[in-house]
Amino acid sequence: MKPWYQRTLRWAQTNLTEKDPARYDADWWRDHWRRTKVQGVIVNAGGIVAYYPSKFELQHRAEFLGDRDLYGEIAAAAQEDGLTVLARMDSNRAHQALYDAHPDWFAIDADGNPYRAGKLYVACVTGPYYKDFLTGILEEIIERSSPDGLTDNSWSGLGRDSVCYCPNCRDSFGQDLPRSPDWADPVYRQWIRWSYDRRLAVWDLNNEVTRRAGGPDCLWIGMNGGEVVAQSKRLRDDAEICKRASIFMLDSQWRHEESGFQANADSGKRLHGLLGWDTLIPESTAMYDAGVPTFRLGSKPEPEARMWALEGWAGGIQPWWHHIGSVHEDRRQYATAEPLFAWHEANEAFLVNREPVATVGLLWSQRSVDFHGKDDAETVSQLPYRGWVDALVRARIPYLPTHEVDSRFAVIVVPNVGVLTDEQVAALTAYVEGGGRLVVTGESSLYDEWGDRRDDFALGGLLGVRHQGKSLEAGRVDWETYDAHTYLRIEDRSLADGFGDTDVLPFGGQLEVVEASGAALTYIPPFPIYPPEKSWMAEPRTDVPAVVLGERTAYLAADVDRLYARYHHPDHGRLMANLVRWAAAGEIPLHVDGAGVLDCQIYRQGDATILHLVNLDQGGAWRGRLEEFTPAGPFAVRVQATGSRARFLVSGGEVEVKEQDGWITVGVDRITDHEVVVLS
Ligand SMILES: [Zn+2]
Repeated sequence: MKPWYQRTLRWAQTNLTEKDPARYDADWWRDHWRRTKVQGVIVNAGGIVAYYPSKFELQHRAEFLGDRDLYGEIAAAAQEDGLTVLARMDSNRAHQALYDAHPDWFAIDADGNPYRAGKLYVACVTGPYYKDFLTGILEEIIERSSPDGLTDNSWSGLGRDSVCYCPNCRDSFGQDLPRSPDWADPVYRQWIRWSYDRRLAVWDLNNEVTRRAGGPDCLWIGMNGGEVVAQSKRLRDDAEICKRASIFMLDSQWRHEESGFQANADSGKRLHGLLGWDTLIPESTAMYDAGVPTFRLGSKPEPEARMWALEGWAGGIQPWWHHIGSVHEDRRQYATAEPLFAWHEANEAFLVNREPVATVGLLWSQRSVDFHGKDDAETVSQLPYRGWVDALVRARIPYLPTHEVDSRFAVIVVPNVGVLTDEQVAALTAYVEGGGRLVVTGESSLYDEWGDRRDDFALGGLLGVRHQGKSLEAGRVDWETYDAHTYLRIEDRSLADGFGDTDVLPFGGQLEVVEASGAALTYIPPFPIYPPEKSWMAEPRTDVPAVVLGERTAYLAADVDRLYARYHHPDHGRLMANLVRWAAAGEIPLHVDGAGVLDCQIYRQGDATILHLVNLDQGGAWRGRLEEFTPAGPFAVRVQATGSRARFLVSGGEVEVKEQDGWITVGVDRITDHEVVVLS
């Protein structure tokens, strides 16, 4: 039998509150495990709050625990049912008594005061709390209950905004600690890298301990988020963590308004890019009403929870239901998982053991998020990336996030990755010389590995552009002074598909000023929007490049990617899609006709092709949580594949299809939430 971390596809978590030892209904939850077809459970064990009578007096016992071993009882029931058991820790904070006994175990600010979170104290990752105390607790839990592994909700200590000045950090850092977060200070930059390493040391030590105490498969797996900017703020190095993780416990529980459901498929693909596609990525999915605002005891509307889960599955993520507390007066949340998990069980053979198909790679770099994005990484790094995600989804162009320059892609998009190391620049150059094609935007390659600005783009020669040392900001936006009232002029019609009846496109963003020998689009400077009598172009044509095309490269000086993430102006999305189609020169393995926003993913599994189509055109123009489904269709789907049959895993049924020149066309009449088509 495969080890637990390779075979446990569906997970359950009833996240116990301190009240639960007095009211947990073991039979009901055991039935719920069966109803929802889960194969593993995550059970609160210790850390901030212990749910078993620990020999460590200073580990705070749940208020209503008494001498009960609630953790042990739940773990034993799950083991009896043949389920994988993960003991859940939450290690980053502790109560007053532990602080009083060991104040030197806790993080200290520049003034010598402990960092506090409410009434709790934040433990320092370099100190004996992690090295000695917590490791003892891990051993105790393993001895008492033999869980398959352990996981930790919040394992990485303070984020990068909070420098710790405790004696252990002073010793370990080996030089004076940075006085404050300051990206211009080389010591702070070194502290950033050192801080990542300290978290990895916690990961390694915990695994050493749990494997020694519980055997080689008794892994300790910290939970991690799905967005790289958030991971950076918490000093978690995605690439290094993924090297260590035999399973990735993804704590990314709900849709955020600004990034949409599609962010979940993107997270799955991005992480699989690091982990490989055989490693499982279960994702904690809130059945409670998570979001803005959050209601821990409320029920998330079922369509909202369902869409988040389905996008995750389309990106290679596995389901994991999550409730806060064991007793709820809003019982609607119990109905969400059952049909979803039943479908997952029935179709699991098609949802794992497969490889993605895409010809477009979207480059991302945590180093650039850190040393280019700095304190404004959402705007600098994340929005341009997200703009491409959205534009590619909208254009139904399958893509994969990539951390490396991978020659299997026909096109690599580099979305304002300001920091590119000399090695990355060399790899991108070799990629283009080997026939690959690049779409590069904004400040990409303008900074070295520590975020110091270079004299010019390191990719400038390859792209045929020279940076002129300045950028034109979008400017002020109000009705009287509307400095963002700028346009782009289409000079070269090779990017003008869908723009047949216009010579200009709206812009309104930031532009890097570059010199080039020609431009496919040029910049039109701002002019008033008010009063209307003044709304005419004082300077209708400039030679300021906005898009520069080379033989196999495109450079986008105008930040339409960032703008598209913010505003979804159709012209910006179309221009980006046109750039990728121009670069791909026909090498896109999918074409879909029919109205709607569909997120499309293609996988190969042996000779079969598996196509996920997720209907994102939900709720129309209505913001907020998803309340009901809006079916879309019909669609005509053309996909590069072989085979003679199409099987529909959601609507059911099967049709014969004809393959012609390596392409199959199949009709999909109606997609309510999603459809999965298997061609074989
Ligand atoms: Zn410290």
